[in-house]
Amino acid sequence: MPYLPATCCPICALPTHDGTTCGQCLQEKLHFDRTVAVFAYAFPINRLVQALKHKEKLMLAHCLAEKLAQRITQHPDHLVAMPHHPKRLRSRGFNQSLELARHLGRHLNIPLLPDACERNRDTPPQAALTRKERNQNVRQAFNCTQNFQGKHVAIIDDVMTSGASLDELAQSLRKAGAIEISAWVIARTLPHNASAGYDPGIACRMSADPVQKLKNDPQQAPEIHL
Ligand SMILES: [Zn+2]
Repeated sequence: MPYLPATCCPICALPTHDGTTCGQCLQEKLHFDRTVAVFAYAFPINRLVQALKHKEKLMLAHCLAEKLAQRITQHPDHLVAMPHHPKRLRSRGFNQSLELARHLGRHLNIPLLPDACERNRDTPPQAALTRKERNQNVRQAFNCTQNFQGKHVAIIDDVMTSGASLDELAQSLRKAGAIEISAWVIARTLPHNASAGYDPGIACRMSADPVQKLKNDPQQAPEIHL
């Protein structure tokens, strides 16, 4: 499995030489304090996340959330899931980040606030956009309906790419009073030159991994066309 290397930027989870803050985060201050990510967004995690997102394989949410829970060392006051716009929620039927957050909340005994944040604009998907376009795309896209005064909040999302959505939601949480914000994600998209830190041997040693089992079981992990 494409686990992230041990030395990553503590803020955005990009691999760095010695685990120090990356150049991008030094240059441009994000509104969240740290990122906890388990995997690089690479095979087979990309397929599993796609299966969760588009095929409603909700059992995958449990397995992936378990992996993330193992990495958590700081317990926030509240969990929130990256919200979908109601239109997208209606067409897809569920929010995969909320499913992940439900499992994490139960597992770690942290209250999940499913309705505390809303997406008030139906922004186009981020995947095909540049970093600058992503920032513009999600600007003021979120609204927090709850007071988070003095609270530490963790935002749950499936994949972090540029971090633009997480940053924008974190900004809304700051406006609502949050003093500490963590981003918890299953996978981090990495630039090509940052992919050298993995240990491919882990894939062999992790043969008993529940996610690996799902991948090997055609009933649980159907062929996904990306
Ligand atoms: Zn960084």
